[in-house]
Amino acid sequence: MTSSTGPQPLDTLVIGAGPAGIGSALALDAVEGLVAGVVDRGEIGETFHRWPRRQQFLTPSFTGNGYGATDLNSVHPLTSPAFSLGVDYPDGAGYAKYLRSVTGHFEIPVARGCEVTSLRQDDVGFIATTANGPIPARTVIWAGGEFQSPEVPQIPGRHSLVHTGREEAWTPREGRVLVLGGGESGIDIACHHIEHGAAVTVLDADHPWDAGQGSDPSYGLAPRSRMRLAAARETGRLTLASRRAVAVAREGRCWTVTLDDGGTLTADSPPLAGTGFGPGLGPAAHLFDRREDGWPLVDADDQSTLAPGLFLSGPALRHGAQRFCFIYKFRQRFAHVARVIGESLGKDCSELEAWRSAGMLAEDVSECGAECAC
Ligand SMILES: Cc1cc2nc3c(=O)[nH]c(=O)nc-3n(C[C@H](O)[C@H](O)[C@H](O)COP(=O)(O)OP(=O)(O)OC[C@H]3O[C@@H](n4cnc5c(N)ncnc54)[C@H](O)[C@@H]3O)c2cc1C
Repeated sequence: MTSSTGPQPLDTLVIGAGPAGIGSALALDAVEGLVAGVVDRGEIGETFHRWPRRQQFLTPSFTGNGYGATDLNSVHPLTSPAFSLGVDYPDGAGYAKYLRSVTGHFEIPVARGCEVTSLRQDDVGFIATTANGPIPARTVIWAGGEFQSPEVPQIPGRHSLVHTGREEAWTPREGRVLVLGGGESGIDIACHHIEHGAAVTVLDADHPWDAGQGSDPSYGLAPRSRMRLAAARETGRLTLASRRAVAVAREGRCWTVTLDDGGTLTADSPPLAGTGFGPGLGPAAHLFDRREDGWPLVDADDQSTLAPGLFLSGPALRHGAQRFCFIYKFRQRFAHVARVIGESLGKDCSELEAWRSAGMLAEDVSECGAECAC
């Protein structure tokens, strides 16, 4: 990324070497003559290295690629985690291995241990300040993920809560366990502790476990979660309560959660927060405007409305009511963004058609929703 006369601007700097960053870089690699590079403050797939060991994917992997049904967790049309790992629900270490092997196979340049500490606009486009010095780039794709931004309810005593993104949340617990949040994260950890013998109460005023089986898994529980929930209910040790926690307090060897109806519940270990993650825009945060719901505002090409040339890739992406929180969703935009960038620089983007054939290119996000008949 540098020459004897100083750093030469990249066409595109990709920040983050998770599935969004590596997938974006792979699509950019298909644009003739485009010069791109990826930086990550840790390793390739750093977040997956940090996943609690017992955490597994919710979305299944299966090598349907040859028949136009690309593995749901792939970030390139010619790859499949199920094929390379030999498992259907990868764990974090496995998925990081997949990302490393894809990066190596396609020779994507990744600078590891290279944190971006600030990002600013400049005549050339952008300047990223990194541990390796400044990197100028005409365009930037922010793919820093959301794992770094765990969301915890802003209630008194919240510091006693253990977020499900932490390893200690997954250590088997005895006695009464309380989980705040009944979406995917909360149900996942509740089932995990039921499977290890605990008695678990899940609190969520929105009772997502009752959500109808819509066609979009972002608005309900994934099939695997519904199956595990049914098995957990059969044990008689799971309670699902449509209540909101308003305070947490430690009392001796127990933890008490006060509910919105004034009642209380007691746990024998620190209550768990299965309350998800925020957008986590790191040093790019000031370059994005926000929607009313707090998520980053982007134009129809996933580009910042405040800083054109800065694109968003990954689960923080929202268009209207559409959420792109799974890999099989946000990967639809890798090739689209690569084409927007490539065409703006006058490059040949025809090889990106292979992504469309693989079902990995949606230019018009309004086409993404579908209602299943049965
Ligand atoms: C517990 C959990 C389970 C999930 N299960 C599934 C699932 O089953 N299926 C699915 O499709 N999705 C799942 N998701 C959604 C998940 O968000 C995505 O799968 C994926 O991790 C997002 O990819 P990403 O590349 O955007 O972010 P990440 O994988 O988090 O990658 C971001 C990268 O950016 C780097 N980075 C961050 N800030 C900087 C900086 N300032 N400078 C340099 N580098 C930086 C980080 O080190 C990291 O490597 C799950 C998420 C969680 C948290």
